[in-house]
Amino acid sequence: MGDTLLIRKIIHVDMDAFYASVEQRDNPQLRGKPLAVGGAAARGVVAAASYEARKFGVHSAMPSVTAARKCPELIFVKPRFEVYRAVSQQIREIFAEYTPLIEPLSLDEAYLDVTENLKNMPIATEIALEIRGKIKAVTGLNASAGISYNKFLAKMASDLNKPNGQAVITPKNGPAFVEQLAVKKFHGVGPATAEKMHRLGIETGADLKGQSLQFLTQHFGKSGPYFYGIARGIDNRQVRPDRVRKSVGAEDTFVEDIDDLNRATAELKPLAEKVWSYCQTKGFSGKTVTVKIKYSDFTQATRSRTTALPFADCNDILDVASGLLATVYPFKRAVRLLGVTLSSLTNERADDETEGQSQLGFSL
Ligand SMILES: [Mg+2]
Repeated sequence: MGDTLLIRKIIHVDMDAFYASVEQRDNPQLRGKPLAVGGAAARGVVAAASYEARKFGVHSAMPSVTAARKCPELIFVKPRFEVYRAVSQQIREIFAEYTPLIEPLSLDEAYLDVTENLKNMPIATEIALEIRGKIKAVTGLNASAGISYNKFLAKMASDLNKPNGQAVITPKNGPAFVEQLAVKKFHGVGPATAEKMHRLGIETGADLKGQSLQFLTQHFGKSGPYFYGIARGIDNRQVRPDRVRKSVGAEDTFVEDIDDLNRATAELKPLAEKVWSYCQTKGFSGKTVTVKIKYSDFTQATRSRTTALPFADCNDILDVASGLLATVYPFKRAVRLLGVTLSSLTNERADDETEGQSQLGFSL
């Protein structure tokens, strides 16, 4: 049996414009209108955009000011993460009817391994269809799905017939699909990596396939073997329901070293906000705040505090972080870097994206 190859059946389920769709579901006046979930304030960022808003070029992670300029009629709605978390839980319960192998990527996305499934259904496409139907019946919301023989291709496939659609990439057409795809569209290739590939003359999957494992490892380190594999439609990562992220953190190095406590404290705010907004999109919190202080002579100190209950608010994290920073004042040297990390996390599941990790500077 050594040469028997088990072809896995992976489904990637992705809710369509999730936060925005929940808001339109719950408030009929928002239906059919360009809508952005997120703050309209000067420093606000769009967390999600309705399809009506996307037609104007509005998308998530865009500064709210830019979004409002692109679409003057844009309606901003404050996020209601407790509602999104509740819907996410409903969706996960539907997944669990089919398989225990569920790996959430965020509140609105998950990989399911249905190779063997609790309903003994042989056709993954039919499972995806059923799941999407149940999601619609239970939540009133549309989901899209990608079905394939590995996570990378399932993820890419869920975008193909979005919104409210699904697509299959088979072992037969997987390699050709990857070859024609622009690398900047690859899951796991963010803007910085795409730019680096561009400089190396790698624009498509076919270009990537033309590079040796040694070349890719030399230029992309640990991601090299992953890129080498996906260029061939190969991705052996398992769907892992129980991977646990230990912490989420953000840090910033200052243009000029800081020796004033008030100024240093002010720098903690965007860090705490970054950490908290990530926690919210993933639907978890934590109980331990750690502040890292790196001084101008590159020595560093860390101070931690653990609370009895998980944090429910960004301001509480900020208060604890500010208190911790104050304990090392007066600073022994001017401060060149500050970091805020939240750990002792509640039921979080890690994802695989090195891109997301490097953007937020996760300390795992
Ligand atoms: Mg989505």
